[in-house]
Amino acid sequence: MELLVTETNANFKNYKKVSWSEYSSFKNCKKSWFCSYYAKLLGVPFTREHTLALSGIIIQKLFEIFINERVYYRYDNYQDLLDWFKSGMYGIYEIIVFPYKDQLDMANPRYYFRRNVGKNRIIEVRDKFSMDPLIKGFSPVFIDDKIFSSEFVTKDRFFDNLYKVICSVLESWKDLEIDLNLMLSEVYIRTKFYGDVYIHGQIDFLYNKSALSNFEDINQIRDKYILIDGKWKLSDFTLKEQLFFYSSLVYRRYKKLPEMVSFYSWTQREFKNYEFPDNFFETLKNEISQMIEVAVTLREECRELARKKIKTIMFDDFFNSIVKNSKVNSKNCFFCGVREFCDDCSYDRKSHIGANNKRQTEKVLIEKGLCVDKGIQDFEM
Ligand code: SF4
Repeated sequence: MELLVTETNANFKNYKKVSWSEYSSFKNCKKSWFCSYYAKLLGVPFTREHTLALSGIIIQKLFEIFINERVYYRYDNYQDLLDWFKSGMYGIYEIIVFPYKDQLDMANPRYYFRRNVGKNRIIEVRDKFSMDPLIKGFSPVFIDDKIFSSEFVTKDRFFDNLYKVICSVLESWKDLEIDLNLMLSEVYIRTKFYGDVYIHGQIDFLYNKSALSNFEDINQIRDKYILIDGKWKLSDFTLKEQLFFYSSLVYRRYKKLPEMVSFYSWTQREFKNYEFPDNFFETLKNEISQMIEVAVTLREECRELARKKIKTIMFDDFFNSIVKNSKVNSKNCFFCGVREFCDDCSYDRKSHIGANNKRQTEKVLIEKGLCVDKGIQDFEM
């Protein structure tokens, strides 16, 4: 990979505004962090494949609107409510999913739906699926057909599975007697952390449990709230520090502490709870300071190269000479946008697809009653 050195180093301008994804990226692999947030790489597009995240993205968007717009008050008939979820599920998919290769042609995917082409796409899909116009706020996701079919076999199976999960979650929340009027979803908070360093992020759900009235505005948040992050399923990639990071946002901005912080697994329909640790602010501050220090060093080195009129340099030569022991967690290569070009990548795409195809074949055989030596629960999505 070749690093493009620019005189202005404009990409460094947000290095003191830290999100959970940037912070965790730095902890997982500094090289990937630098490529994602700062480096300009020559002829190397930073691409992402979202198949594994797709179900979670759609269900989160649906439950965000379901809660924030109090959709549950609209329907006396339960089937009508389920139909709202169903049309939303198909509609969101049609709006947000693009072929993997399309991201290379999109100048900036984040702005796609602000342009006329994106706005027209939304209008067409809303009409086609009679989708609620309150379902909005989309970002493109990019899907490689081969990976999609190795995971789900067909689109119909993807939708069947997603719809089943939605129905089960609704039943489960009803059983748990969660008071939806005390919840808000997708709450964005940006706050000063220390000095001139900011932290920011979007919180999936806040349950203002001890509130005396409906939760309509984040300013009503009270101590002993519950912070929840939805995950399609809990895995080794699920880090409780994510919940602590988001609670730090709430504390720094509103001076309120949670009773507990939780992951909610959509597929397992269960909460995994943690207490907010006393020493987390200190740990976070130390690690963010280190991250900013590394960013400043890299920025200074880029400036030095620019002063020497060096326009490009081999990425690894530059990066490895400045940042030592950069790689920490190899599991993350699967999600990395430069994995195709990275010599240190430990993700094997072919074996992933191969393993999944085998898994899907076994799943189909089991569904047809042709294979009895494995339980169907092994294949639950
Ligand atoms: S492919 Fe793996 S080692 Fe390479 S930058 Fe990405 S996460 Fe780091």
